[in-house]
Amino acid sequence: MPPLGEQSASPAVPFVQRRPRRSSVRHGQASCADYGCTRPECRRAASRARRRRDQDRLRGLSARVAPQAAARWAGRLREQGMSAQDIADRAGLSVTLVRRLLRTPAPSLTARDIARTTADAVLGIPSPPAAPPPPPA
Ligand SMILES: [Zn+2]
Repeated sequence: MPPLGEQSASPAVPFVQRRPRRSSVRHGQASCADYGCTRPECRRAASRARRRRDQDRLRGLSARVAPQAAARWAGRLREQGMSAQDIADRAGLSVTLVRRLLRTPAPSLTARDIARTTADAVLGIPSPPAAPPPPPA
């Protein structure tokens, strides 16, 4: 049992997602603002993403989508050298979710749908940069 009064003594926790330690989310990405960043470009990106989700909902698009496209892209990123953790950091998703996605069988009719926001986050990760060119002779 913690001593009485410990709870009230803890500082107020702001209602923001905690940025993962190895996060490579950059300024200007919607998930940067989700982590509490208040730069204008990050807030703009977040409100753009929010607006797009609202529009999707208004158009009657399902909030959940088949996982295959995102699973394929996650697999490609891993072939290009990114780990599940790298992908999770870039997408602002949990590594557990990314690992589950990576295990999605390719042409599966039984795979459970995933949140559209999850698919969008994975599909929005650019390919890792190609290996640097060899130095000039
Ligand atoms: Zn930012």
